[in-house]
Amino acid sequence: MDKCLYCGCDTTNNNSGEHIFPAAIGGKTKLEPKYVCNKCNNKFSKGEALAFRKGVHSIPRMFYGPGKRGSLTESNKTKSGITLMKKKDSGLYELGYVSKGLPYPITQISNMNEEYKEDILIISMDKSNIKKFKNEIEYLLENDFTNKNTVIKNSEHIKKDKYIVGYYDSKVYLYKSNDSTIESITNLIKKHFSKVDSNKLVLDSLKYKESKVMSYFEMEANINIYFWIYTKIFVNFLILLYGEAVKKFQEYEKMINFVNTFGESDSSFIIQFSDTFNIYDLGVNEHLILLIDRGNELFGFVYLYGQTNIGFKIAMPDELMNGIDRYPKGFYMDYTDIKMDRELDFIEMLKYRNLERSKHS
Ligand SMILES: [Zn+2]
Repeated sequence: MDKCLYCGCDTTNNNSGEHIFPAAIGGKTKLEPKYVCNKCNNKFSKGEALAFRKGVHSIPRMFYGPGKRGSLTESNKTKSGITLMKKKDSGLYELGYVSKGLPYPITQISNMNEEYKEDILIISMDKSNIKKFKNEIEYLLENDFTNKNTVIKNSEHIKKDKYIVGYYDSKVYLYKSNDSTIESITNLIKKHFSKVDSNKLVLDSLKYKESKVMSYFEMEANINIYFWIYTKIFVNFLILLYGEAVKKFQEYEKMINFVNTFGESDSSFIIQFSDTFNIYDLGVNEHLILLIDRGNELFGFVYLYGQTNIGFKIAMPDELMNGIDRYPKGFYMDYTDIKMDRELDFIEMLKYRNLERSKHS
């Protein structure tokens, strides 16, 4: 019987494999389905979402890519969450998202535009959306904004009795000041909404591409998830190399436990460096896992977006020391390279990178 290397459950009927590099950052190669069960696979997706949508790596991902499930197509471009943003040198705040370094506004209404005489501003990219927006807001106004698809935020950038309420991807975002109650804001929006004529009040959105925009990202610096994502990638690579024999590593239990608890257990196999380093001069579009041996010890390094400050030190099991294995071993990808339909091993990587460099010199 095949068993999941993370939880020990039966994987005989397992049909999907766990990615080595997560799909969110372009990973393509998966482990054989027998190694990681569907349940663990799904559980880990939640940690990946935290790491790549809200963690430190959400920034390069937002600016460079890749998009949803590793896609490089326009329609699947990675987007930040909805954030407050404003054009530089303007007092006008808006709600929008950032994709590949460019800001885009969402459909919204606000009473924060003091220059506009009606004191209301609606921004919409298409009119069909504004109808949905209106319906959704009217429903929420009747229900005091209590709905699971509503995100309510208090922001220091918004003054008392001012608000922005936006609609995107079936969700409503209400930004208000700390001093305003939901009740007072609801009354204001009600008043403004009764005057809204969706055919008349649609204004052109700010010309973002022509000016600098400031965004106020809210990042969740979850340090456990930060170490967790590196560890999971490293352990998956060990499983790819050694399969079942990964259990022979003295640190196996510790590493598995660390991954299963999302980084809340003994992490003595992790080495953290105070500076980030980049021995292969990797670009921001490259990920690499590197494994080198130093006698009876193995050192692993995981580079995401070309850089790392995370290493792993584990003891080499006697059974795996019989000289047949050659080190260093590596696993490499350039997620922007559409010809690269799988990750390359270390030797392939060196050849590939030499070739790419000779093309450019
Ligand atoms: Zn499992």
